[in-house]
Amino acid sequence: MERSAADVLFIAGFGRSGSTLLDRIFGRIEGFVSVGEIRQLWRRGLMEGQLCGCGEPVPECGFWREVLEDAFRRFTPDDARRVFSIAHRVDRVRTFRALYRDRADDGDEYARILASLFRSVRRVSGARVIVDTSKSITHGLLLRKALGDRVSTVHLVRDSRAVAFSWMRRRRRPEIHWKRAEMPTFGALRTSLDWMLVNTLIGRARRRFDPGMTRIRYEDLAASPRETVIGMLADVGIPLPNDAEVPDRSFTPGIDHTVSGNPLRFQSATVEIRPDLEWQSALPAGKRRLTTALTWPLLLRYGYLGRE
Ligand SMILES: [Zn+2]
Repeated sequence: MERSAADVLFIAGFGRSGSTLLDRIFGRIEGFVSVGEIRQLWRRGLMEGQLCGCGEPVPECGFWREVLEDAFRRFTPDDARRVFSIAHRVDRVRTFRALYRDRADDGDEYARILASLFRSVRRVSGARVIVDTSKSITHGLLLRKALGDRVSTVHLVRDSRAVAFSWMRRRRRPEIHWKRAEMPTFGALRTSLDWMLVNTLIGRARRRFDPGMTRIRYEDLAASPRETVIGMLADVGIPLPNDAEVPDRSFTPGIDHTVSGNPLRFQSATVEIRPDLEWQSALPAGKRRLTTALTWPLLLRYGYLGRE
């Protein structure tokens, strides 16, 4: 049976893999809307009031107000807390197995909420395809529960050594506008173990998403954005109109109502995409060896070993 075209593109992966770049690219493609990491809408967005990609605190952003009103009529801060507590119970690593086997009845209520939310995002944005870069695979399984095979999934991977280096660096979080806050930092050991776990689970979930799941590497995206994006859409069966303009190495971003992501979310000046290879010289040798030793099976599978 022919599968009808998906209208939600879910990006799965580990943090610091370049998903915000995908948000900005899709924000420029006609018919697509990027909502960022929508799983963060309840806590970071509505409860904490962090900044939307448009620069307004999420609770004051006109786009999200309209979406929430459309989806739930009235949506109070108490509702946000209630939805967050439901989401927090089901969207976590320990529920993976139950969600994967579709046994998590607990997920039903949240899946209904997600279905309403996505319906309203579509209505308000007028977009044909919604791009959700939440990354968490349990969120992806819940989306699948909510929307079935209307969800296509891209597994975005990035070299674990680059990821380890990124998590070691201190970076500001401009979305926390009421005080100075930095992104958390983690050591190479912790990042390596988590990177393996998260990518393994996403690989394992593949059967639940097929057909309609593909894998791309951040490094390929950064080297040839247009080609990579066109290829991945073809892989997951999302048609791109012939005249669609897909950004390449340099583009001017629009205004995206992205809920969460890295500081690239707020950039309005021209985005110049180039592969970020700083880790190759800046990651200390010992940490590099440690990360390679702990993550080599997937590095090999993703084609990162053997070229150095
Ligand atoms: Zn906004």
